[in-house]
Amino acid sequence: MKVLKFGGTSVGSVDSLLKVKDIVEHQNEPVIVVVSALGGVTNQLLAMTELALSKDSAYEATLALVADRHIDIISHVVPADRQTECREFVGEFINSSLAGMLRMLCLNDVPADIVEDMRKSIVSFGEILSSAIVTMMLDATPRFAPGFIKTKRSGGEDVLDAELTRRLIKSEFGGTLPTTTVTQGFIAHDAATDKDTNLGRGGSDYTAALIAAALEATALEIWTDVDGFLSADPRVVPEARLISKLSFAQAEDLCNGGAKVVYYPTIAPVRDLRIPTWVKNTFRPDVTGTLIGDEMSTEAVVGVTSKDDTVTVVTRVDADLALLADELMRRLMSEGIGLIPVARTPQSVTLRLLNGQAATVVPLMHKLLLEHE
Ligand code: ASP
Ligand code: MG
Repeated sequence: MKVLKFGGTSVGSVDSLLKVKDIVEHQNEPVIVVVSALGGVTNQLLAMTELALSKDSAYEATLALVADRHIDIISHVVPADRQTECREFVGEFINSSLAGMLRMLCLNDVPADIVEDMRKSIVSFGEILSSAIVTMMLDATPRFAPGFIKTKRSGGEDVLDAELTRRLIKSEFGGTLPTTTVTQGFIAHDAATDKDTNLGRGGSDYTAALIAAALEATALEIWTDVDGFLSADPRVVPEARLISKLSFAQAEDLCNGGAKVVYYPTIAPVRDLRIPTWVKNTFRPDVTGTLIGDEMSTEAVVGVTSKDDTVTVVTRVDADLALLADELMRRLMSEGIGLIPVARTPQSVTLRLLNGQAATVVPLMHKLLLEHE
């Protein structure tokens, strides 16, 4: 059994959904498909909530756009005999449940704690809607993720209840798996109150990893809109190259260092059970992508990432990191950029920028490291 996660762009258009269908239908073992909301919808849900809270009925225009987009997609990807059912479900959810909550926020002075709960309910609609469409498109067995992805309150936040979640996933998916199961990423319930919660923005990757780990899947595949992990953010470093393999530790350091391709908590569950994890491009399924597993990348420059005022360089395990950090500091100092090392793992070093912008330092470092190779 494999777990396949499709992100917002992968489920965001007719064209991409047909690619998803093709990918899923070419699998030769049972799959659990985890979906994000249609690309952009989570942001729209949050924006509509803010408008409604400020008593601005302009949210209605966005709501109409969201409704039209989902309904239009249904008519192109869902087989004819299931379209009415799918349209009714999606229409009811948007025009009754979602519209009702937004109207309530717009027309009343709702107490802050209830607003907080309603915000979490509203933001969960994106995955409910996308999963309904994907389930019908694939004629799959649906599973409701908040039934087994549970959070608890800690430090004023919703955090995963890992032990309970693992147990519930095992009982939910115990026995023989259907060929295709579809569930939602991101969304959860509070273990104590059963209220709507979530795993944080980008959390669908994490849901998929939790399922893959609990069921000891043969693989986790994260299907996105880029070819895999790149050696740097291609918007900042156009010559960044695809990294074909990464150890779990290297991937974790890249994610913690700010790589956006995978949500950072995703690696830990699959690392613990050593589940091979692929990052692949829905739009170019023939490209091999990145394999995260036991084998590390042996390239001298695995990746350069940045987050806030830090830059992280990930390398081979046996690289001389102290020497590398020294050389980088010296070379960048000659360009007027001050850096100090602040953290190290066996395969990475993180430096804090004393001045200058990550957007200029990352390309420079990437270039220096390539010369160093
Ligand atoms: N839809 C959620 C978000 O936009 C979760 C995800 O896509 O992973 O953050
Ligand atoms: Mg994502």
